[in-house]
Amino acid sequence: MTAQTAEDWMQEALHEAKMAYLIGEVPIGAVIVHDGEIIGRGHNLREHGQDATLHAEVIAIQEACEALHSWRLEDCQLYVTLEPCLMCSGAIINARIPEVYFGARDPKAGAVRSLYTVMDDDRLNHQVTVHERVLARPAGMLLENFFKNIRKRQKAAKKARRDAAQKN
Ligand SMILES: [Zn+2]
Repeated sequence: MTAQTAEDWMQEALHEAKMAYLIGEVPIGAVIVHDGEIIGRGHNLREHGQDATLHAEVIAIQEACEALHSWRLEDCQLYVTLEPCLMCSGAIINARIPEVYFGARDPKAGAVRSLYTVMDDDRLNHQVTVHERVLARPAGMLLENFFKNIRKRQKAAKKARRDAAQKN
């Protein structure tokens, strides 16, 4: 068996993001790897669960903690298609995950590089090694397409309402 690269694992996270896309959720996916094996997966389920905490990373962390029977995810790597937000960065730090790989930056909510750099903050008792821009392009394109489609649908709905109003 050949060793898996960071890109290979990120492909798995991208696969999760596509699952979110297919069900109309903002397409973000994550996997957690331990000893060369995926022990946690997740994709954004905020709308389906009507739960603000159901981000891809949180779901993957919960699954990984269950797999290891531990809240400490030492010797694990987390791969996520988009830069983690404050909540997920907090969860990653609290789970003691030593290494994070993310795809695209999130200028609106990113807490790793864009708005904050909490994973490097040495006032906290745990720091995370961060690798960014792993398959950033496909991750970003997926998000772009998703929001483009939403805008298209909104525009079409608006036009349909306008046309209906004119008929009356
Ligand atoms: Zn998050």
